[in-house]
Amino acid sequence: MYPAPIDEYVRPATVSDALAALGRYDEGDAVFVAGGQSLMQAVKARLVRPRCLIDLQAVDGLSGIDAGADGLRIGPMTRYVEIAGHGGLGGAYGALGDAARHVGDRQVRNRGTMGGSLCWNYVAACMPPVAIGLGATLELTAAEGGARSLAAEDFLGGPLETAREENEILTAITIPAAAGNAGSAYKKWGLVTDALPVIGVCVSLEVADGRCAAARVAVGGLATGPQRAGAAEAALAGTVPGDAAAIGAAMKAAAAEIETQQDLWADSDYRKQLIRSLGAEVTRNAFARATGGEAGQ
Ligand SMILES: Cc1cc2nc3c(=O)[nH]c(=O)nc-3n(C[C@H](O)[C@H](O)[C@H](O)COP(=O)(O)OP(=O)(O)OC[C@H]3O[C@@H](n4cnc5c(N)ncnc54)[C@H](O)[C@@H]3O)c2cc1C
Repeated sequence: MYPAPIDEYVRPATVSDALAALGRYDEGDAVFVAGGQSLMQAVKARLVRPRCLIDLQAVDGLSGIDAGADGLRIGPMTRYVEIAGHGGLGGAYGALGDAARHVGDRQVRNRGTMGGSLCWNYVAACMPPVAIGLGATLELTAAEGGARSLAAEDFLGGPLETAREENEILTAITIPAAAGNAGSAYKKWGLVTDALPVIGVCVSLEVADGRCAAARVAVGGLATGPQRAGAAEAALAGTVPGDAAAIGAAMKAAAAEIETQQDLWADSDYRKQLIRSLGAEVTRNAFARATGGEAGQ
């Protein structure tokens, strides 16, 4: 229940100070703390035994949401509560609020951050499929001053795996502005209200001339890590918003192409049913947002 002894706690004010603190320790001995909602459970259970905690709360420039003509720039320390309450995240960005409003409970939403969720990449987390569904790019900065950008789907691996190198910090999440009329939505199903999802589905799409011009479909809750459903994306292209049969066929394709696991929470077929039903619902909601209507959730 209690953590192993921790030698040092630091609260840097800049990204370079945070990276310098990381560099003073051997690999794995110092860890960044964002909201602490996943990490501290692992520390208490001694699954992670750091000698140093680097608290990112006071680091300048890591928090906040900037909306511009190019799209969104979200600081990794931006908390769920800020995303859930942000007035400018409708339409193309609607999936962000859908996810943030239903993460855990109020305490978790007040502390947990989008960057922490992406860097932890828990099997049942909401933000990984949302980041993939929205075509997000993650900016990483290294101690030596190097920086690189990775598409969310390249950053996020299997559960608890990411492409982050030990000497890197996540410094921004960017989401491109959609061309034309766009909408996105996310919904999860868990065993109790607002619990970690057994399956979560994000759909984002663009509508031109009354039809879906492009779509991205991403699914979370998978033993293989969050996945895109390419066959469903192809099937949605050209679909008319109200065409329930076409939307259903696209989500049937998603369920068929995605490998689902059996565990204590649900069997493989049930997960496929969730992909079909949640997928159809979020596709309708994404269409509604793209065409200026109200999403039904
Ligand atoms: C009761 C409960 C219910 C929950 N329900 C849900 C749910 O329904 N949906 C859901 O998605 N999640 C849920 N969660 C998990 C929650 O979303 C966590 O907040 C999230 O997974 C981690 O975010 P954090 O800010 O707390 O990160 P932390 O726990 O502080 O850190 C997580 C990891 O990310 C690393 N890290 C953090 N920031 C950076 C950075 N900028 N650069 C590099 N590495 C970084 C840390 O070193 C650590 O390894 C729940 C958690 C609890 C306790």
